Amino acid sequence: MGIRSKLGLAAVAASALWPSLLAAPAARAEAPASYRTAGMMLQVERNGTPYTVVIEMLIESEVSEEAVATTLRGIAARFPLTSEPTVNAAHDAFTLDASRWPDSRVAWAYNPTGRPAALGGERDAVATAANSWNAAGAFSFVDAGATGAGTGGCHGATDGVNTLGWANQDGSVLAITCGWYSGARSTEFDMEIDPDWDWTIGSGRVGVDLQSVVLHEFGHALGLAHSDDRNAVMYSTYLTGTLRRELAHDDVAALTSMYGAAPTAGAAAAPSTFALQAGANLLTWPSAHVAPAQAFSQHPEVVAVYALDAAGRWRQYLPGAPAYVNDLAVLEPGMPYWVLASASVTVAIQR
Ligand SMILES: [Zn+2]
Repeated sequence: MGIRSKLGLAAVAASALWPSLLAAPAARAEAPASYRTAGMMLQVERNGTPYTVVIEMLIESEVSEEAVATTLRGIAARFPLTSEPTVNAAHDAFTLDASRWPDSRVAWAYNPTGRPAALGGERDAVATAANSWNAAGAFSFVDAGATGAGTGGCHGATDGVNTLGWANQDGSVLAITCGWYSGARSTEFDMEIDPDWDWTIGSGRVGVDLQSVVLHEFGHALGLAHSDDRNAVMYSTYLTGTLRRELAHDDVAALTSMYGAAPTAGAAAAPSTFALQAGANLLTWPSAHVAPAQAFSQHPEVVAVYALDAAGRWRQYLPGAPAYVNDLAVLEPGMPYWVLASASVTVAIQR
């Protein structure tokens, strides 16, 4: 099957955020069997601030690399680029920009505009997908309900709302997720699902399973790249007619390596102690959010904690120093810190 002829991206961009109002063909009768990933990284300036935008999309497996590159160029053309896109049209996973949501949580909202008319209950399928990531305990997608906000993050312009919506894409694309990063900090994501596919939900006939695809895209939204594990939700290929609605062990491992283990996760919980050597120790905070004064209250050997913030500025905690000196307010799971100790010590984690 060739790439279906579709509206030019220039026309899409010019038609504002909800191009599905344009005359889209009816649902594709012959859905291809397999979709793989493609993506790219863009450098964009917005309101004077440089951002990195990571685009991840699911695209028909059988389209040529040339066609994929054309699609990616079309998406890149929506953005005010400050340098050439870094394209990853290959099958391999590529590493995201080590960026994460600062509070291990992000609110998302759903805009039903342009949804396929025949679909019902898709709101629940989407929320279930988000909540599947929450169940691992390390990260929270907060359901902010319905929104009128668009998916401008996929068109070069953010609006502060992390929106999941429907929008036509270039012929072979199922869905795209567009994540914006400033420094090491995620700032916004939007997700666009092309309504023009054979989407199915619930427990009946399975076409392109919305919950499975959105579960994968939410993984990108929280900052995960792909996995080589065929059982993983973050595996780079999806097959029509299959359900992939459950996180695999590999997905949970990726999530917790990024955001820290759940504080109540039983046998797999974060270690309750860790060792510091005399001098400077670089460590990744292995526990839940906690103020450094609380974390080290039983350990006078700890004389300073330093961290780089998203703006590249050093923040510090010095025990006993006045508040205006201590501008490192909280230790965040999975983030790097320099800890200076006057002697070697085993720290018991205080929650
Ligand atoms: Zn993907």
